[in-house]
Amino acid sequence: MFLRQLFDAETSTYTYLLADPETGEAALIDPVRELRHRDLALLRELGLRLVLVLETHVHADHVTSAAALCDETGATCAASCDGAKCAGICLRDGDVLRLGSLEIRAIATPGHTLDSMSFLVDGNVFTGDALLVRGTGRTDFQSGDAGALYDSITRRLFELPEATLVWPGHDYRGHTVSSIREEKRFNPRLAGKTREEFVQIMSQLALAPPKRIAIAVPANLACGRAPVGAGI
Ligand code: FE
Repeated sequence: MFLRQLFDAETSTYTYLLADPETGEAALIDPVRELRHRDLALLRELGLRLVLVLETHVHADHVTSAAALCDETGATCAASCDGAKCAGICLRDGDVLRLGSLEIRAIATPGHTLDSMSFLVDGNVFTGDALLVRGTGRTDFQSGDAGALYDSITRRLFELPEATLVWPGHDYRGHTVSSIREEKRFNPRLAGKTREEFVQIMSQLALAPPKRIAIAVPANLACGRAPVGAGI
């Protein structure tokens, strides 16, 4: 598999470009609206054809470029059936999408949001904001549920082979990638922690709300098709 990790410094968001090098078919996971031209230029340079745009969840901190990319390239947008209804493919747990010879398996990992999906591809898992490197997504808004997140991580993600690489949706401290083995052992919110302890930790985070939540959530429910003049 061809894989590139791309970063939005403004919102600390990772976008992933995956491709089957044989067929040139490509997918983007969690593209950011302001960086659409960067992503299109990279696809062009590499001679790749965008066929899928995947969203790990309805984001609260940035606006997706999914609809714009799909309109422009003819790619299909895919998102959880519990999330943005604008996607051409609605995904449920266990669904498999094909990208050339690659299989992208959707794993429902609710907790950060109800619609959170992780994507397993060829020994790599793209975890959105469910599991971060030495952290997790927050659970205090957008139907977040700390108990559900603990279950998603411990029963679904930690059941994957330990060598599986973990590619997070964000990082704020300079980490880029981890593994299931490392997160089981070293994630401070999870290693050796019970469900009750995890819920307690999450309830005490007292984080400020994301700056753009009022704009980002409605825009992302429309796959990034925001009303004109919305100031995004
Ligand atoms: Fe998020």
